[in-house]
Amino acid sequence: CGIVAYVGHREAAPLIIKGLKRLEYRGYDSAGIALLNGNGLKVYKKKGKVADLEFELQGKPLTAKIGIGHTRWATHGEPNDVNAHPHYSQSEHLAIIHNGIIENYASIKKSLIDKGYTFESETDTEVLINFIEDVRKHKNCDLEEAVRLALLEVVGAYAIVVIDKDNPDQLVAARKGSPLVIGIGEDEYFFASDATPIIEYTKEVVYLDDFEIATVNKGKLAIKNLQNQEKGPFIQTVEMEL
Ligand code: GLU
Repeated sequence: CGIVAYVGHREAAPLIIKGLKRLEYRGYDSAGIALLNGNGLKVYKKKGKVADLEFELQGKPLTAKIGIGHTRWATHGEPNDVNAHPHYSQSEHLAIIHNGIIENYASIKKSLIDKGYTFESETDTEVLINFIEDVRKHKNCDLEEAVRLALLEVVGAYAIVVIDKDNPDQLVAARKGSPLVIGIGEDEYFFASDATPIIEYTKEVVYLDDFEIATVNKGKLAIKNLQNQEKGPFIQTVEMEL
């Protein structure tokens, strides 16, 4: 339901938590965050309010300059800690947050199970991240290309952000049918389902269009569509009161 992600020079965890609170008005049943730092990629998630997640995070080593956060409105699988986002891929090298519904998740899940994949949650989202991981492995391509190839096979609606344990300077996002806004700061990028978590940091935003993939890699933003055509980011200035 709500997405907040960050890569840059600030502490990601407090920024993401604050952003998730700004999105609380959208309604949700659970919340979670994935943080990437020198100790690896770690997911924390909890049924309930963002405040319950914050309680869970107390005393944890949260220092990180990149992370993804989510408030979930369950569509596939009951609201509980396991079904909450972010979801790891099976290798725990990738993690995803997702708004929307993958309509053909059952057939993708079946083909992944036939290949030996196992699933912890009942969500369509965990299917998608394992599908992306499987494509990356078999095509031997980078994450952006794996997301692109996987999404060509997906029917449904999504706004997603994916993070990769092996690349602490990179976030890959995409949308179809669910909104996604990218805030552009000085050597930092914000992703959110609407501009409210972003505007206190920057007024420069890009509204991602359907069938577009946005990749931030080593401080640079690139946008392409699912047909692999580069799109110059169309940067707009939001006029919005806090
Ligand atoms: N379909 C996903 C799930 O049930 C995402 C729901 C959402 O948009 O929050 O976990």
